[in-house]
Amino acid sequence: MLLSKKFKDYMVQEKKIEGLKWSGKVPNDLPFQKKMKDYMVRRYQTDAPFQNKMKDYMVRRYQTDAPFQNKMKDYMVRRYQTDAPFQNKMKDYMVRRYQTDAPFQNKMKDYMARRYTSDAEFRSHHILLCTLQKKQKCLSDAGFHVLHKLRCALRIKRKYKPYIHFSQDTPNSDATNQPVSNSLVQKAISAFRCQVLHGPTYICTVCHRTLFPNQVKMCKRSRYVKNVRITASCLTGKYVHACDSACTVSCAVPAERRQEWICHTCDSHLKRGYMPSIAVANKLELPPIPAELLDLNVLERQLIAGKFFPFAKIVALPKGQQRSVHGAFCVGPSEVEKTVQLSAKA
Ligand SMILES: [Zn+2]
Ligand SMILES: [Zn+2]
Repeated sequence: MLLSKKFKDYMVQEKKIEGLKWSGKVPNDLPFQKKMKDYMVRRYQTDAPFQNKMKDYMVRRYQTDAPFQNKMKDYMVRRYQTDAPFQNKMKDYMVRRYQTDAPFQNKMKDYMARRYTSDAEFRSHHILLCTLQKKQKCLSDAGFHVLHKLRCALRIKRKYKPYIHFSQDTPNSDATNQPVSNSLVQKAISAFRCQVLHGPTYICTVCHRTLFPNQVKMCKRSRYVKNVRITASCLTGKYVHACDSACTVSCAVPAERRQEWICHTCDSHLKRGYMPSIAVANKLELPPIPAELLDLNVLERQLIAGKFFPFAKIVALPKGQQRSVHGAFCVGPSEVEKTVQLSAKA
């Protein structure tokens, strides 16, 4: 009885202190608070009924008192981020509960499915994580690698089966061996044509490749903070146009040149803090073109392109008519002088 009275007194006191803290009117009684906290911790560890009572009280208060609930949530998030043993303990607890508690399992599954469909950032993070895990497993487990390849092939086949039907009537004729197009294929083709209409006019700020609009995204520099040194050397901003005195009133430079773009490959590397292998900063810088070579036409450029010329047999593949190199590939000397003399004689 005495204990429970003392406990009640303390709770009243605590509520009062908390009330005062919220209102900010009266300074806290720190020595008293510390003494009580020590007492509570000690008692909580040694007195089982008191422990249960406190647990009940916390559960009840958490369910009914919204500010207290928020405070507890903040505390848990903060502790999870800073306290490694606590983090591991929580992870273990979640894993164990997921395996043994069926309603909890269903709840978590629902939550994850909902979040995956509605939260784009969570989805891309999850996909990246899965890809990395699979890559790692493919490297370490040969059997898994074979199975994974097979699964990928089957998935692609399943995905496109409803849309593409190859004509089986005359399998030897190239013309009829094309996929029969339907409205969906037509839609995809027109979407593709729309993307490539103006040519590759978007320049990646990291690798300086000229790309189509669907191959780049806007470069938000604040997103690449994982490795500041690499980010600083990679984001060149070289081809972003800023109007100066040379521009007329209505600047003729296309809109996409006034914005900094980054390709998906460079973006994913920089986000993880790695140097993209194709980055200009990765010792791939090209010297500027000399002024006298700037306005050569295609034929002139071909003539001075190099002392060697590649030769290969190129064939059309039976399905889809893609081009492929067949057999050996040899490089012969290109005799520019002789060609020029011959054309002069003619
Ligand atoms: Zn790039
Ligand atoms: Zn301009």
